[in-house]
Amino acid sequence: MHSLKNELVNKASQLGFDRIKFMQVRQLELWDEEIKVRRQLDPDTARYWEERRLTASYASVMEDGRTFIVASYQYAPYRFEESSGKGYFNAHYAAYPKGRQAMQELAAILIESGFAAVVDPPLPIKQIAYLSGIGCFGKNGLIHNETNGSLMTLHLILTNAPLPVDVPNESCITDCGSCARCIHSCPTGAISNNGRVILSKCLRYHMLSPGIIPRDIREKMGSRMLGCEDCQACCPKNRARFQETVEPEVQIFDIMEILISHSSLKALMERIGKLVGKNYARAQRILSMAAIAAGNSGNPAYVEPLSRLIYHPHPQIRAHSAWAIGKIGGASARAVLEAALTKEDDPRVREELQYALARLEL
Ligand code: SF4
Ligand code: SF4
Repeated sequence: MHSLKNELVNKASQLGFDRIKFMQVRQLELWDEEIKVRRQLDPDTARYWEERRLTASYASVMEDGRTFIVASYQYAPYRFEESSGKGYFNAHYAAYPKGRQAMQELAAILIESGFAAVVDPPLPIKQIAYLSGIGCFGKNGLIHNETNGSLMTLHLILTNAPLPVDVPNESCITDCGSCARCIHSCPTGAISNNGRVILSKCLRYHMLSPGIIPRDIREKMGSRMLGCEDCQACCPKNRARFQETVEPEVQIFDIMEILISHSSLKALMERIGKLVGKNYARAQRILSMAAIAAGNSGNPAYVEPLSRLIYHPHPQIRAHSAWAIGKIGGASARAVLEAALTKEDDPRVREELQYALARLEL
């Protein structure tokens, strides 16, 4: 088993993982408690937790599971200029599929050796990462360590291989001390004083959601299309990493391009899917986010494409477009909104149109 572990460690390093830990499986009893607290604190997001179907029981995933293998895949944060006409996306989303693919390669070694291995099983990975010694919890709810800060994606294998384990970390659950920068930097006040993130207030939770995003959240989204890292950029653990920002490999969210080519986004979805995974390449949701980013830019050039989107078949796109036109304002905004109101049947969109019209009076 020592030689198999060594092979995994060496391969992990070649694949770009900077840290890998082996831990004996255990029940994650604290997780069930945590979920109860989160549901009570934030009932609007109870369904989200149900849909994720995370379990505290490794045995429900693999009855004869013996070892958790946790690995961290670091990435450099992206450089971003608000005025570029591009929608912001966080480097995490481009790194995650690469880390997952690399973890599949590690799992293949176990499978070739005759063991079972499940990559990214539905277990609370952050808790396992903390227990295994990958890092500590920050008050922003993320795992960080002295090498990567929190700029890493975390990946997990559950296997029945009885591999030698590393010394677990059960002492320091957090090393934030009296720091509270992330709490104060969060644009929506989503991080509570005890370091719990209130999901319904977190911008990331609402991104690419299928419904109409609450107005107060839209207002704070700026040009973010995928991800928010305000609570990481301010963190002292990430200071050095944010001094080395890099250009994104490709720019996937050109706001004007998305708004103009709204009826033929297939090629763009393929590009997005290749970079960040198909799960995020959903045309209607991206269009919906682009309308919000356009509104937040205040750029009058977006009113013309938005005035066509205000008749889109999907109500959330109509609602966000109405809001965006009302926010940008300008000479044609009133006529566009009034004309749309005469044809709109959906009460939620009508309310957005009325709100947008009222906003023009301010
Ligand atoms: S991701 Fe953004 S919105 Fe969510 S907690 Fe962090 S700073 Fe707040
Ligand atoms: S900003 Fe401060 S409190 Fe927040 S995670 Fe970083 S060290 Fe912890």
